[in-house]
Amino acid sequence: MKKKKSTGIVRGIDNLGRVVLPKELRTAMGLTGDSKVEIFAENGAIVMRKYIPPKACAFCGAVDDHAVVFEGCCICPACCAKIASLQPGQMVGEGSVEP
Ligand SMILES: [Zn+2]
Repeated sequence: MKKKKSTGIVRGIDNLGRVVLPKELRTAMGLTGDSKVEIFAENGAIVMRKYIPPKACAFCGAVDDHAVVFEGCCICPACCAKIASLQPGQMVGEGSVEP
């Protein structure tokens, strides 16, 4: 089992059971305003993780019945087409470097 890393942050729960997730954690986990999380109990702890719907594209998040799974990675037809058109050495999207 992976060792848990404490953030050192303590938050209160309001009367409706709501708690605000620290911005640093939301950013680190890629949680945005429209993200969904799964919540479950495990070994006496409440565990929450980002919900990724089945058949959700690993690149754009689109859910498509025609998505393919390659090396454990779900890819929608639109992203498959973009990937197929890439040239060796070409970098596109987030993290790419302009020439
Ligand atoms: Zn996609």
